[in-house]
Amino acid sequence: ADPLRSPLLEVKGNIELKRPLIKTPSRLPLSGSRLKRRPDQMEDGLEPEKKRTRGLGATTKITTSHPRVPSLTTVPQTQGQTTAQKVSKKTGPRCSTAIATGLKNQKPVPAVPVQKSGTSGVPPMAGGKKPSKRPAWDLKGQLCDLNAELKRCRERTQTLDQENQQLQDQLRDAQQQVQALGTERRTLEGHLAKVQAQAEQGQQELKNLRACVLELEERLSTQEGLVQELQKKQVELQEERRGLTSQLEEKERRLQTSEAALSSSQVEVASLRQETVAQAALLTEREERLHGLEMERRRLHNQLQELKGNIRVFCRVRPVLPGEPTPPPGLLLFPSGPGGPSDPPTRLSLFRSDERRGTLSGAPAPPTRHDFSFDRVFPPGSGQDEVFEEIAMLVQSALDGYPVCIFAYGQTGSGKTFTMEGGPGGDPQLEGLIPRALRHLFSVAQELSGQGWTYSFVASYVEIYNETVRDLLATGTRKGQGGECEIRRAGPGSEELTVTNARYVPVSCEKEVEALLHLARQNRAVARTAQNERSSRSHSVFQLQISGEHSSRGLQCGAPLSLVDLAGSERLDPGLALGPGERERLRETQAINSSLSTLGLVIMALSNKESHVPYRNSKLTYLLQNSLGGSAKMLMFVNISPLEENVSESLNSLRFASKVNQCVIGTAQANRK
Ligand code: ADP
Ligand code: MG
Repeated sequence: ADPLRSPLLEVKGNIELKRPLIKTPSRLPLSGSRLKRRPDQMEDGLEPEKKRTRGLGATTKITTSHPRVPSLTTVPQTQGQTTAQKVSKKTGPRCSTAIATGLKNQKPVPAVPVQKSGTSGVPPMAGGKKPSKRPAWDLKGQLCDLNAELKRCRERTQTLDQENQQLQDQLRDAQQQVQALGTERRTLEGHLAKVQAQAEQGQQELKNLRACVLELEERLSTQEGLVQELQKKQVELQEERRGLTSQLEEKERRLQTSEAALSSSQVEVASLRQETVAQAALLTEREERLHGLEMERRRLHNQLQELKGNIRVFCRVRPVLPGEPTPPPGLLLFPSGPGGPSDPPTRLSLFRSDERRGTLSGAPAPPTRHDFSFDRVFPPGSGQDEVFEEIAMLVQSALDGYPVCIFAYGQTGSGKTFTMEGGPGGDPQLEGLIPRALRHLFSVAQELSGQGWTYSFVASYVEIYNETVRDLLATGTRKGQGGECEIRRAGPGSEELTVTNARYVPVSCEKEVEALLHLARQNRAVARTAQNERSSRSHSVFQLQISGEHSSRGLQCGAPLSLVDLAGSERLDPGLALGPGERERLRETQAINSSLSTLGLVIMALSNKESHVPYRNSKLTYLLQNSLGGSAKMLMFVNISPLEENVSESLNSLRFASKVNQCVIGTAQANRK
């Protein structure tokens, strides 16, 4: 069997070949033995001439190439053999030769003398005994031989013709068969092509399926990996869940304990709330009491201040400065009070020798003693703190709503500025009344905030020179000179006064106050270069507007605190000849004297409760009118120089001060709104 042949084709071929192949054996000159031969064996068996033949050989080959074809095997062996034997008996080997030759050339069989014949019955000449040559004379015999020979030849020709006829029939059959087989072959080839195409398609499909399978396998492996991962995760999650469950249990246990604690706490809270309510009630009661006490304190404080006097005069004698001539001993005496040296001094004695009196008697007269008594006298050694201590309570009255006004009066160089602003160099020990008073106010306001009071402070600082007002807090281009300021009422019908063009600066701490004092000093220094030592010839007025509010009780209080560094009180010696420059000086001095005497007159008028108080006679009294009237408290420092050369001026100052000291301004009333 052909190993390359498709079994499908084989089966198909078997079925289709069945019929024609059954017919053929009867006509084919094939013996059974030849059918069993392999093609190569068959070819070997042929003569070289036959080998080259393809016509019948091919046909035979096709037929014999199906040894297992049922059609062939179904052919009864005996019949096939019989036919083949018959044919071979009839034709013999010559026949095969003749067929082969005839098929090859399609020509008449050449007249080759046939030497062997198995079927004619005529004995072959080559193989038989040749009759001995007849003698030449035996012409009759020779003729007879020749006739016999002719007869044999004719018979032979006849036989050959028959054979030829037979062979031609066979050839036709064979050709027909070849044709049928060719058709069959084409059909089979068509089938084969189809089947091959199918096979290819099948292979393609197989390839696709394989690819599919591969892909699916790959996917499967991925899925398996995923599944494994998920399983791992599941295990982890289960582990975690177990942990969480135990945590939850723990938390629940804790929650239970917490809840228990909470309920007990709630009970506690309820009792505490009750307690708090009670405490709050108590607190309000206490607050009420505290407020009552505070109001009482204010009343008593005021009463005390009034007892001390609404107009108080303190005398302060400055020490002899380095480089100054030492005054003769006993020029100034500070006799102790009735309580002995432990009592704070209130008296001062000044001794002045009158040269003219001494000349009249011919001998130097003993110096005249002038005794003065004030609310308090500060001898040269007194420190700034000591001085402030005395006025702290007075300053506090401003917070309670009473206007407070503090003056420093005295000749130039007696220590007014030192008392009000402080000594040079920013030494905290030498700080004056202004910074100390403000610090005190800020701290007391802070304390009062605990009782519901809210305080605000607004500062201004102006200078009155030659009856003109200038701002000492001016900044920028207005610094030092600036436009003139006017004193105006804050609004129509308002009691409050303001200075136009002046800065009103809100302050809430020491630092801000320091900055303002520094600015004022700068402004004065600039002015000093423009006009010769103006500061001693002008009044400096520092004002602090205090506003307090107790919002929950709807209470308000406010009052101005004025701290005034007055111009030098010295007078011009009337005996001196007046030069052109001195005339200006005289006008200045007259203005100063006028304003200082107006101040004295105003205080006097207030003390005597006169209907007309000449506030308008000077800018100073006009500006300070709200700090001087009715409920106001006034303190005047009379600053004294310890020098002998200043005795005359000191005496004048002391006289002015004791006049003021004799005044009593009526009972003060707090400015309650
Ligand atoms: P006024 O302002 O009255 O013209 P000052 O305050 O400028 O006088 O004082 C003149 C000088 O005396 C300044 O150098 C000042 O430091 C100094 N002085 C004034 N009072 C005292 C005092 N109590 N202790 C120490 N020095 C003082
Ligand atoms: Mg001064």
